[in-house]
Amino acid sequence: MKCPYCSYNDCRVLDSRGTDEQTAIRRRRECNKCKERFTTYERIEEAPLLVIKKDGTRELFNRNKILNGMLRATEKRGIELERLEKVARDVEQELRNRMEPEIPAQEIGELVMEYLLNLDEVAYVRFASVYRHFKDINKFRQELDRLLENN
Ligand SMILES: [Zn+2]
Repeated sequence: MKCPYCSYNDCRVLDSRGTDEQTAIRRRRECNKCKERFTTYERIEEAPLLVIKKDGTRELFNRNKILNGMLRATEKRGIELERLEKVARDVEQELRNRMEPEIPAQEIGELVMEYLLNLDEVAYVRFASVYRHFKDINKFRQELDRLLENN
């Protein structure tokens, strides 16, 4: 690691820690020559995660899509963005922990629903209604009944 001040090619690491999102490692370094201190970020390489869509096509996993879906479902529910961002991160982590290169979109949706159920029941039903494309009101009602029974 080259020092940004004197370009000397030797420094020591004072401190290493993950960033909030755990996608990079932050290192505090000190140049062994001029003793200046600086910070570097190293991205943690992530294997690409593919989503298998309903029509069989694949697309790169995108956490923002989950977040957007939840934002729609939680509209006017007074849930902090921060909590939704955490859910999106947790979902991504859980998916990555499976170590599978491809995951059906449906499974991702089900996982998001599990998290939403713990967060806000109205949001859960809204998300489920969009996600599962309830074809008629009876299916929607069944879902609601199932939800109420579990309480
Ligand atoms: Zn230096």
